[in-house]
Amino acid sequence: MQFEAVIGLEIHAELRTKSKMFCSCAVVDPTEAQPNTAVCPVCAGMPGTLPVLNQHAVEFALRVALALGCEIQDVSVFARKNYFYPDLPKGYQISQYEHPIARHGNLTISTSNGTKTIRIRRVHLEEDTGKLTHIPGDTSTDNQPYTLVDLNRAGIPLLEIVTEPDLRCAEDVRIFATSLRSILRYLGVNSGDMQKGVLRIEPNVSVRPLQEQELGTRTEIKNLNSFRALERSVDYEIQRQIQIISERKEVSQETRGWDEKREQTYLQRRKEKEDDYRYFPEPDLPPLVIGPEWLKKIEGNLPELPATRTQRFKEQYQLSTYDAEVLTNEKSVADYFEKTVEVSQDIPPKTIANWISGDLFALINKSDMTIDQILITPPALAALIQLVEKDEINQKTAKRVLSEMFNSGEAASKIVDRRNLRQISDQDTIASIVANVLESNPKQVMKYTEGKDSLTQWFYGQVMRASHGKANPQVVKRELTKQLDEVKSRGASP
Ligand code: ADP
Ligand code: MG
Ligand code: ZN
Repeated sequence: MQFEAVIGLEIHAELRTKSKMFCSCAVVDPTEAQPNTAVCPVCAGMPGTLPVLNQHAVEFALRVALALGCEIQDVSVFARKNYFYPDLPKGYQISQYEHPIARHGNLTISTSNGTKTIRIRRVHLEEDTGKLTHIPGDTSTDNQPYTLVDLNRAGIPLLEIVTEPDLRCAEDVRIFATSLRSILRYLGVNSGDMQKGVLRIEPNVSVRPLQEQELGTRTEIKNLNSFRALERSVDYEIQRQIQIISERKEVSQETRGWDEKREQTYLQRRKEKEDDYRYFPEPDLPPLVIGPEWLKKIEGNLPELPATRTQRFKEQYQLSTYDAEVLTNEKSVADYFEKTVEVSQDIPPKTIANWISGDLFALINKSDMTIDQILITPPALAALIQLVEKDEINQKTAKRVLSEMFNSGEAASKIVDRRNLRQISDQDTIASIVANVLESNPKQVMKYTEGKDSLTQWFYGQVMRASHGKANPQVVKRELTKQLDEVKSRGASP
């Protein structure tokens, strides 16, 4: 039997505002701040305190909802979600339930099977909880296990985005997740850092026989802290469920974790019935009313988003979809590309795109910098490419120069002059290097005249070496062909 996977995502994205959702505590980097240093009576859930809504958090939420094409609700309502857990000092989480801030959006992704539009069911605002760190016990020393509580995260504004079950495979999930991350970063509301838990993505996965309309029983995967884990876990879960159904057994509705080392999902808890959170409207906060003027202002301030920018790059710079997507995925990369195009004269944009997504990306990936931190400025990159375009250095030399620029920040022309790297294009000079190489390698010349044509490449390498990589490849090829032809005809008729 053929099966089809059905996947819906629940995404939690922290909104990186300056202060928390309902108090003036700072929103701090989870890996940098000391535990419990950004906490006050409000976010620590002390009795008698009152929440005051952070307007920026609402604005950030609206930016995302608008970018996802959602219908913004004129009036939304905060609700208390009651449950008891050590990371939740109030005993309830302020969230939105029946009246979320936005509904009915969509995000179109481009996959290897063409574009797909994934519907967004709802977007709602809530507050994040604290963070627990479990310290295991040690029987040899009789140390008991214990848990550390850090409330720095408690009360950070959180946006929950829920999709319809419109995704069909792990690739869809990966591409949706990276597209969404890209949008969040463009909007400046979230760093997209899954490792730090700032962006958390939970897939709900089920499978059903192909052509079947009804949804199968789903499992939910939690605690995924990388895109790789997200994709792998979905793939694993699909296969696991297909196996179960093929054996005529039943998938049970449950929450599963991801074991990074064994690359397997494992049972965390069964979910026989709905959790009962006894939701009710938050009495300490009035309904959230979003006026048309405010909304219009936020809409007017939205940046050009990745999909629109991809389209524009394709048209304006004649780039392929692939190139345009690679360049627009990160706003800083797209900005860097456009600045380089702007300051370069007559360099084809495609050439600039290749330099950035090829050699420059390779250097950046090896470092721990981002493109806006590197020492090579857009004009400096343009100047380097210009040297290649004007035949002053060859491609290979340029790669070496780029790497040196990356380390020192020195200008291309300075490096080229100082290290005497300018390309030799002079016909006579190259002719004599070629002649020298042929003279010093009589054995290879002999073999060549006997018909071993593949030696041309070897001679080429020798000439480039003799010129310290500076010879103009085109001129070398021309001269080499000419002299080898002569040798051959001489060999044939001495
Ligand atoms: P919950 O019960 O977790 O609060 P929902 O029923 O609203 O939530 O669904 C949560 C997510 O699971 C949504 O993204 C939804 O599209 C997805 N989902 C629901 N049912 C299925 C299913 N049978 N298979 C796959 N995904 C599903
Ligand atoms: Mg759920
Ligand atoms: Zn606080």
